[in-house]
Amino acid sequence: MMDRREILDWLRCTDSQQLERLWQQADRLRQEQVGDAVHLRGLVEISNHCARACHYCGLRAANQAIGRYRMSEEEVFACALAAQHLGYGTLVLQSGEDDGIKADWLAGLIRRIKNATPLALTLSLGERSDDALAAWREAGADRYLLRFETSDRALYRAIHPDRGSRVSDRIAILGKLRALGYETGSGVMVGIPGQRYETLADDLLLCRELDLDMIGIGPFIAHPQTPLWQAQSPLSAEDQVPPTIDMTCKAVALARILRPDANIPATTAVAVMNASLGRELALRRGANVIMPNLTPPQYRELYAIYPGKADRIETAEAGDNQIRAQVLALGRTVGSGPGGRSGRSDTERQSPEPGPVPPVSLKIAVCMGSSCFSRGNNGQTIETLRHCVEAAGLVPEITGHLCENLCTQGPHVTIGDTLYSNVQASCFAELLRHHLASGKEGIDG
Ligand code: SAM
Ligand code: SF4
Repeated sequence: MMDRREILDWLRCTDSQQLERLWQQADRLRQEQVGDAVHLRGLVEISNHCARACHYCGLRAANQAIGRYRMSEEEVFACALAAQHLGYGTLVLQSGEDDGIKADWLAGLIRRIKNATPLALTLSLGERSDDALAAWREAGADRYLLRFETSDRALYRAIHPDRGSRVSDRIAILGKLRALGYETGSGVMVGIPGQRYETLADDLLLCRELDLDMIGIGPFIAHPQTPLWQAQSPLSAEDQVPPTIDMTCKAVALARILRPDANIPATTAVAVMNASLGRELALRRGANVIMPNLTPPQYRELYAIYPGKADRIETAEAGDNQIRAQVLALGRTVGSGPGGRSGRSDTERQSPEPGPVPPVSLKIAVCMGSSCFSRGNNGQTIETLRHCVEAAGLVPEITGHLCENLCTQGPHVTIGDTLYSNVQASCFAELLRHHLASGKEGIDG
């Protein structure tokens, strides 16, 4: 059992030969406890509206230099189908603390995704009401990520102001999430101005104490539209933790040693700080998860938590190819299934009540292969399909599927058991009328 003194010694260690021992110990434990699989979790940044004033984050409410967006239900749903199409086991929905994301709206969307796909669902939406957290869990959300950011109460208060009279206590919320049956994830930033080595050691011990299922640790990257931009640390250079890849890797390796069976991502911030090596180093020093970004390109640059993130704009499929190649080059495998915390399968946890069963539903499968996608099978088409089915008085059950190698006749849509080729959204209402008139196959209920 590693104690605080030992953690501190590692955090202050600069001897590369000694550090090699730390990297090896973390990597060995990672392999023994969670195996060689790297789990891919599709990340969708569903809104950049935020009511908070965190001193470190570019999405803070006072930043008027960015345009704000909130994705529609159909856009998020299309991303869920894309995650399924890419073979991911988990979808992560992240946003600012956006009161415009209503509890009922999201509960409906969670049910829809859970009914249509086998994806595990992780939420990361900030400090939401107990009722909202309970409703989302009941609708089928499996996990929640809420970083406590720092275990130093004074530093936390200085960089993470309360919202009006609502006192921010993320550690208390993590307890509530656990009680609701969520797998819980949390973590910290490395190198916030004012973070001492002792604080980072306590952060890591708190990760152990909270028995976290997921631990996210990334370097602090200053944003020009925030109070921490070019902020002078109140600490001497000797006491201030630097926001470097090396220091972040030490924290990742120590987190693996302290919580051997946790899921630990190689965070986006690590990849932004060092595009060629950041992810690889984290994966070799204890990490076992990557969160490929599936946010539609037009929104990505607006989700500007810190600078440099927008430079990583890539299509979902290009990003996926690159990540898979990176994982295989490390001699690791790409994980399948939801990839929950080892020894704690989703079925062992309290299961949410299933969503209401639609009385009369129509099954529609949309080909999400790259050719059909580029010919029009995208979020807009899915929205049109849904409206047409609802207008016919039926409940749509829309799923995505992989390419069926009929690309020259795409885009393809299957209604019930009937495959239709060259389907254009503008003609779908007529196609649906024809389909229903010809025997109504594919209708349940
Ligand atoms: N709004 C939600 C919340 O605060 O939990 C989720 C989104 S928030 C952008 C996700 C995480 O980004 C935060 O918990 C924080 O640790 C990290 N973050 C914010 N600003 C950052 C910065 N400038 N550098 C590195 N990480 C940052
Ligand atoms: Fe909002 Fe989260 Fe950024 Fe804080 S860290 S400003 S809550 S998005």
